[in-house]
Amino acid sequence: MSYVKPGNPKLIVDLNKLRHNIQVVKRMCANEGVEIAGIIKGCTGLFPCVEQFEKIGVRYIGSSRLEHLAELKSKSIQTPLMMVRIPMISEAEDVVRYCDYSLNSEISTLKILNKHAGKQDKVHNVILMADCGDLREGWWDKDEMIQAALKVENDLANLHLAGVGFNVGCYGSILATPEKIQELVDLAERIEEAIGRELEIISGGATSSLMRIIDGNLPKRVNMLRIGEGILLAHDLPALYGYDCRNMFQDVFTLRAEVIEVKDKPSHPIGEIGFDAFGHQVQYEDRGIRKRALLGIGKADYGDPSELLPRMKGVEILGASSDHTILDVQALADQGKEILVGDVLEFDLNYATMVYVTNSDNIQKVYI
Ligand SMILES: *Cc1c(COP(=O)(O)O)cnc(C)c1O
Repeated sequence: MSYVKPGNPKLIVDLNKLRHNIQVVKRMCANEGVEIAGIIKGCTGLFPCVEQFEKIGVRYIGSSRLEHLAELKSKSIQTPLMMVRIPMISEAEDVVRYCDYSLNSEISTLKILNKHAGKQDKVHNVILMADCGDLREGWWDKDEMIQAALKVENDLANLHLAGVGFNVGCYGSILATPEKIQELVDLAERIEEAIGRELEIISGGATSSLMRIIDGNLPKRVNMLRIGEGILLAHDLPALYGYDCRNMFQDVFTLRAEVIEVKDKPSHPIGEIGFDAFGHQVQYEDRGIRKRALLGIGKADYGDPSELLPRMKGVEILGASSDHTILDVQALADQGKEILVGDVLEFDLNYATMVYVTNSDNIQKVYI
């Protein structure tokens, strides 16, 4: 989209706070001998954000989206790039072209990566993924995984078997317990025995594995974590698991949206009830006449309104359509605080809303 709208909504990104968070996570991992891959998919690979990772110096920069990584290559990011979603065969050629590392779980795809690496006169680094129960990507059959490792090591000359990894806490909500991570280390050692050398990388998970760093019980030999949320938002570890993350900023991102209407209205719709804008049947609570405010931002911008986090106490999100968000601000009115048309309200983001908002062309990004 070439038209850039003036005014709101805006996403304010505080790059100083982001650099601080990168520094804190980098340091706490380094103390345990762990290097990090900064995962930038959560903020859609916004370039000024990625630059902070490069400035602080992380060992790798990764994304699940090849388009993010291709752009970084074209903008001369020097940090090695890692494709963290299992590559599609149709994108294998460009994975080799733009990425230094990729995570893999299929021998057929590995053979094609090898072929393209040969054509491009390169050696492409691969990390083989094990599934230890979260049931997203990775080999479930560990003997088969060992066979794949042997195949890469011995037969696929343009691939380098850099290491192994796993992922938990994504689909299956599995916790990165010391025992679970140890399963990966044991498997890595079986592979090392099979290939007759040490692996450089044992990649023990994502943000949820930071709990092991904080608790000081990360299994030995894990030497790499892939961290996105824990740096960009630092929200889940304190909010979901009660970890103290006050040494990090939870407000790197601020969403600003503008009030376009303020009126007293009934809280229950008047007339025959059918379906909402998205074809859903909704239950509405009747709380009588309430003060309501409308924002000029909607589901098209952030996905699910119930996941937006208003910074101002007394602002309650009632719902949204594509381009409107409906707020109950009666609690503010009761305290004598008036919301006016033209006011700008601020919101914190969670992971899902960050993904949408950073992806939205409708939302101007402002870096401070
Ligand atoms: C997204 C992703 C990560 C980073 O996850 P966070 O929870 O944001 O730290 C790491 N590894 C893989 C494979 C991913 O897809």
